[in-house]
Order: sequence, then C-alpha cells, then structure tokens
Amino acid sequence: MNIYLAINEGSKVLRNRCISNSQLDAEILMAKTINKNKKYILLNYNNPLNKNQLKNFYELIEQRSLGNPVAYLVNKKYFWNSEFFVTGDTLIPRPDTELVVENALKFTKHRNKLDILDIGIGSGCILLSILKERKNFFGTGIDISKKCLNISKKNANNLKVSSRLKLYKSDVDKFNLGKYDLIISNPPYIKTCKLKYLERDVVDFEPRMALDGGLDGLSEIRKVIKKSSELIKKNGKFILEIGFDQKNKVINLLKSEGFYINKTQKDLAYNDRCIVSTKI
Ligand code: GLN
Repeated sequence: MNIYLAINEGSKVLRNRCISNSQLDAEILMAKTINKNKKYILLNYNNPLNKNQLKNFYELIEQRSLGNPVAYLVNKKYFWNSEFFVTGDTLIPRPDTELVVENALKFTKHRNKLDILDIGIGSGCILLSILKERKNFFGTGIDISKKCLNISKKNANNLKVSSRLKLYKSDVDKFNLGKYDLIISNPPYIKTCKLKYLERDVVDFEPRMALDGGLDGLSEIRKVIKKSSELIKKNGKFILEIGFDQKNKVINLLKSEGFYINKTQKDLAYNDRCIVSTKI
C-alpha cells in the first residue's frame, strides 16, 4: 500500500464517522506516522508504507474517528507565530485567543521593560507568544496543573524565551508574588451545565479543568479579576478572554475592582471574546 491509497482509505473512514476535515486530517496523521511534513507527503504519494507504518496510521485514524483532536494526536498546534507542544493536559490553543496576544502587543507598543503575569498559563501559548515578540519583557506563569507547567516550560525552551519566564504551581487565590504591568488570562468560562453541549472533540478530550467556569460560568473569572486587582501595578493593563455572553457581567466585575474598560473585541465568529482594561 502506498501513501496515497492509505490516505484515501483513512480519509474515507473519518468521513464515514462524520469527521469534517477528513482528507486534511488523514494527511496530517500520515505525516505524523512517517515523521515527515505535509509537503513531503504530497510529493511522495507513491512511496510504499511498511506494515508497521500502516498499523500506526490506522491507529491514529481510529483515535481521530473517536473524536480525539488532531492537535493531541500529533502533539502540536500552531498559534500566533509559533508551533506549540500540546498534550491532553492542556487546552488546545485557539485562534480566538490570539486576540489576547494581539491586544497585549498593541497596548504595550511603546513600553520597553515589562513584567507580565499569565493566570492559568496552560500550554503557554499567550505568554510565550508575547515574550517571543518582545525581547525585554519578563513573564510569570501560574497554573494549578503541574503537567501544564511542564508543557509551558518545554514550549518556552523551544521558543528560546525560558530565561525570561518563571513558573509557579498555584491556585489564583493563593498567589501573592510580585506586581505586574500586564496581566493576561484565558480562564475557564463555560457554565458547568453547558459543558455537555460543546463539540465531542472538546468535551471528551480537552481538560475539563480548563473549561469549567462553575454554575454561572464566572466562578474563575471572578477570582482572576479579584486577584489581578491586587497584583497589578497602578495603570497596569489587564487583558481577559471571556465567553460570548459574559461581556456586560465581566465589565461590571472589572469596574467594581477599580478597572477602567479600554475596549472589548469580538472574535472571528463575531462573539465578544476579549476585554482590555486598565487599573486606575
Ligand atoms: N473557547 C473555549 C471553547 O469554547 C473555552 C475556553 C475557556 O473556557 N477558557 O471551547
């Protein structure tokens, strides 16, 4: 069996199991199987596969057909300007979250040295993307998951920013170290009762801890805002990712903790997704 035929077979299996990007997914999983990139695959369609490779490929196809996201199967996801190592222990970086990076860079354009805190760093995609763009910025990341901290560390090494990063295993409530010019966070913000309606790929495979925002979806956001108001410097910027229906409630929470709202921004699906504020 050659690469071309195997991809076709794999893609057919995925299509029959209602996976939407079946062809693309099969190509990516083939690239992972033979440890080459997608370009190689396209240029070498006629290359034969050995038994072991075929077995590995069909195992990946089986995993994908059960809903396991491609990013977890290949252990990587592209975000902003870099590729991030990811496992099932971290949320998969999403394009919507690039709004946080975009605003962080925009609102600190004229700043030289800056201390940044990322609350719930996960894979590190937000903070590390910023550190990579701004060589004089320093980052601190906290997370309750030790596994996430290890993944962030690995990504920081890959992106060559680890000398400017400190990581702490801590709950947001218990963290009291330092004062920051910029705080960023993509906390869990889905209402517990709505989790079951998320796509299967998300609800069955991504860490619940990174999604579950409690009864009203705001339990973690509330904690993050409260703690940020203590840890942020006067005039410091606070940039938060929020759920599509949380804008007004979050604005009120921010105002009650002494933040001025600079702007809110919608994502590509036209949902409110990002709030930029300043501690006054
Ligand atoms: N945007 C993610 C989703 O809807 C949720 C991320 C989060 O809770 N922080 O899948």
